Formats: sequence, C-alpha cells, structure tokens
Amino acid sequence: MPLERVLGTKLGEFIRGLHESKGVVFHLGRKPAKIDRTSVTLDDGTTLDADIVVMGVGVRPRLALAESAGLAMDRGVSVDEYLMTSVPGIYAAGDIARWPDPHTGDRIRVEHWVVAQRQGQTAARNILGAAEKFDGQPFFWSAHYDVSINYVGHAEQWDRIVVDGDAEQRDVSVGYWRGDKRLALATIYRDRESLLADVGE
Ligand SMILES: Cc1cc2nc3c(=O)[nH]c(=O)nc-3n(C[C@H](O)[C@H](O)[C@H](O)COP(=O)(O)OP(=O)(O)OC[C@H]3O[C@@H](n4cnc5c(N)ncnc54)[C@H](O)[C@@H]3O)c2cc1C
Repeated sequence: MPLERVLGTKLGEFIRGLHESKGVVFHLGRKPAKIDRTSVTLDDGTTLDADIVVMGVGVRPRLALAESAGLAMDRGVSVDEYLMTSVPGIYAAGDIARWPDPHTGDRIRVEHWVVAQRQGQTAARNILGAAEKFDGQPFFWSAHYDVSINYVGHAEQWDRIVVDGDAEQRDVSVGYWRGDKRLALATIYRDRESLLADVGE
C-alpha cells in the first residue's frame, strides 16, 4: 500500500483509493526491469507506455567525509542532545544527524526541511556557546489532490493505531501509539488538532 510504512494500512488504503479515483494505476510489488525511450517493462513482463519516468528511489546520507573525520556513526552521524558529534566542537544537523529525541525517547534521523532548518539554528547557537538542547518536534505535510495530510511527531514502529473520524469524509485524526505514548499524529482537515497535539510526551 502506498505510504503504508509511514502512515499505516488504513491511511495507505485511503491514499491508494484517492489516486485510483483520479485514474492512477498502481503496480505494487513490481520493479522496473527495463526502461527505454517509449516504455517501461516491469519484472513480471508487463510493458507500460511511458513518455516520462519519474523515479522516487529514496536517499542515503553521504557519510564519507564524517567517517574520515572519525565521527561516531549510527546509520547517520551520531549526535547528542546538543547536536554535537562524538568529536567535541563538531556538530551535525539535518538529514545526516541521528539525535536523541526527547519526545519519543528514541534516537532518530529525520528527512524533513524544517528539522534541518531548526537543527541548523540550534547547532549554530551551540557552536557560539549557547548549550541549547534540540527539542524540536518533527512535522511534514503530504499533499494529494485536495487532501493534505499533516503529520507531527515520529513513529517508525507502533503497537496500535487509533483512528478518530473518517478519511473518506476528509475529517480524521490517526494516532500512532507505543504503550501509553502517542508517538505521532496524522490528520486530514484537522489543523488545529495537529497544531495543538502533544505527541510523545
Ligand atoms: C525529492 C525530494 C523531495 C522532498 N520533499 C520534501 C518535502 O516536501 N517536505 C520536507 O519537509 N522535506 C522534503 N524533502 C527532504 C528535504 O529536502 C531534506 O530534509 C533537507 O533538504 C535536508 O537538508 P540538509 O541541509 O540536512 O541536507 P541537504 O539539503 O541534502 O544538504 C546537504 C548539502 O551538503 C552537500 N555535501 C554533501 N557532502 C559534501 C561534502 N563531502 N563536501 C561538501 N558538501 C557536501 C550536498 O551537496 C548538499 O548541498 C525532500 C527531499 C527530496 C530529495
């Protein structure tokens, strides 16, 4: 299901249906085996006509420089709550940094614009001696036609999902819980609830 790993099955199904209602055809589980000037051939032999191919293949942090500088790694550059690496005086921020998130208690690495901007600001202030802990809450929007999914917090794994409302009605909030902690909240047309959400506290 599209976005299932991040948003769970229910929202994934909703997003799939939304795109299908606009004529999008998914070939889930298939990989492109061959791309030529006018078509894409999938690994089950299906051939799709294609003028343009847009690839979303993910990203990987570029760690060579940090590694060669001797910084401790943890699927990214490991930093403390001040965004300082294992080498005093060297800081890391943004996509590359894995930090101890005070909201979830997990060490997380997040690929969002605003996290990179705010971590950059905190790291800069700490380089100047501010000794400021980074406690920003990750968030992002994901826009699909007339539907914007607002997501706040960070949940890579959860033990239950609590749905309030109905995505089909464009009025829903979906909480991602581990034990007694709501790690993250996704909402559709519930901006106020999203803005006020206490996640991971
Ligand atoms: C297609 C795409 C869509 C995205 N959409 C969204 C979105 O809608 N919302 C959102 O919140 N986030 C989005 N993101 C994520 C967002 O772009 C990143 O989280 C953000 O850019 C991270 O900023 P950064 O400064 O940590 O890293 P980058 O922006 O990757 O900057 C790192 C810089 O370091 C340079 N660099 C790397 N190695 C070296 C080296 N050895 N020497 C010198 N320079 C080096 C790179 O060239 C690059 O300029 C998207 C990302 C992609 C790829």
